[in-house]
Amino acid sequence: MASVTARTSDIEKAAGVLRSGGLVAFPTETVYGLGANAEDSAAVARTFQAKGRPPSHPLIVHIGGAELLDDWARDVPPAARLLAARFWPGPLTLVLRRGSRVLLEATGGLETVAVRVPDHPVALALLSAFDGGITAPSANRFGSVSPTTADDVRAELGDVVGFVLDGGPCEVGVESTIVDATSEVPSILRPGGVTREDLEAVLGCPLAVPSSSRVRVPGQHPSHYAPRARVVLVEPEKVVAEAELAQELGHQVGVFLPAHLADTPVKAHAVVTLPASMPAYARGLYGFLRELDQRGCDLIVASLPAEEGLGLAIANRLRRAAGPRSNV
Ligand code: AMP
Ligand code: MG
Repeated sequence: MASVTARTSDIEKAAGVLRSGGLVAFPTETVYGLGANAEDSAAVARTFQAKGRPPSHPLIVHIGGAELLDDWARDVPPAARLLAARFWPGPLTLVLRRGSRVLLEATGGLETVAVRVPDHPVALALLSAFDGGITAPSANRFGSVSPTTADDVRAELGDVVGFVLDGGPCEVGVESTIVDATSEVPSILRPGGVTREDLEAVLGCPLAVPSSSRVRVPGQHPSHYAPRARVVLVEPEKVVAEAELAQELGHQVGVFLPAHLADTPVKAHAVVTLPASMPAYARGLYGFLRELDQRGCDLIVASLPAEEGLGLAIANRLRRAAGPRSNV
């Protein structure tokens, strides 16, 4: 849970900005979101403009509690209710059939809607003060690294956001897990803060996870979450040699040094030694990418963690950070 809570007057001000059709950046436990009134089509349209995001990429509708689910979705299956009861508030997004309050502009024209209840005191206070649904993609330019602090948001979107609520650094650090709950057996569309293992334990059945290299749903492009520097993925044991070779060839190399190699000296421009724990790695991931950009690296050499638990979401983001840029 975040240690910083926004003042009541800031929450009221932010709710007022939403009511008047403006955009508010706010903290969630995953990343900072760019919020708009989900029932205001002009405000929703402004969200896409601000991010430079194609309007076909659906937004997640944030709501204040699981008891409001039927206002926003219809024909909610029992498995979805089970997941909502167990994981909300939390980093789980459910894709369901669109309810009547949901604008087609918010779903990219789809008859389904993505809904979640964020687990952050500031986000929940804003939802309660505003008393409605808030569409919120991550508060960054389309395709770039998601913001995990209020300063990141100001650096990315300071010129277009009406108001930034500061709730301190995000606890989870990667986006929510998106589960398609419209079919009989739910499937994971995007790995995230709730692990596959946790979902399967609650549902009592195995879930499909798509490969991160293919576009399966709108908005899941191969290149996303990308820093300015090019990202190259190699086997963990080859990170040091690859980094040193690229540095010798004239690159300004940033290194994601695996935790088990922590004391290894590396001849490179900048080195981030990764935390051994996956929650700490997820929490730090976007900050590490931003840091290496800020330190002037043009190439980042990294490896994938084991794809279990939060490692699945981290590997998905790293693959997409390394994805072909021309597809964005
Ligand atoms: P974000 O990109 O973090 O704002 O998360 C939004 C992502 O949720 C989109 O890019 C889609 O991949 C996914 N999403 C949202 N709505 C839907 C939907 N109705 N069906 C499938 N995926 C969705
Ligand atoms: Mg995003």
